[in-house]
Amino acid sequence: MTRASQPWHIVKQSTLHGTGVFALRDIPAGTRIIEYGGKRITPEQADELHPTDPDDPFHTFFFSLSSGKVIDGGNRGNDARWINHSCGPNCEAQESANGKRVYIKALVDIPADTELFYDYGLVMEGRITKKLRAQYLCLCATPECRGTMLALPKKKP
Ligand SMILES: [Zn+2]
Repeated sequence: MTRASQPWHIVKQSTLHGTGVFALRDIPAGTRIIEYGGKRITPEQADELHPTDPDDPFHTFFFSLSSGKVIDGGNRGNDARWINHSCGPNCEAQESANGKRVYIKALVDIPADTELFYDYGLVMEGRITKKLRAQYLCLCATPECRGTMLALPKKKP
């Protein structure tokens, strides 16, 4: 049986926010669960496409690659776009060696029926204001929660 016919994940109602992605069966640590699919666009195109839904203005399907390109999960995307953020996640998003693809990988052994999360670590240009933080409010409620989906600057020692 190929992996394509036996996926690791299933999409259903999240325990946290909207739609989520769950382990369909036990997933061993280190497993590549799914690729983050979508059309490759430039950051300028991403700015123009920024969603304007007043009910959910800051929900994003964009994944920024280290090359500067952006994957638009809302266009030719796959189930990976439904994975929610957590500050204490059980998965991580990992770029391929050439920086062109992103895979969601299990950080730990994940039992079947557990919701999958990764840390969005959204990087914003300029200063992270209180308002911006509130717009990307995190409700993950893990002990590690930093209260926002944004990547915060490292604290100086
Ligand atoms: Zn959090």
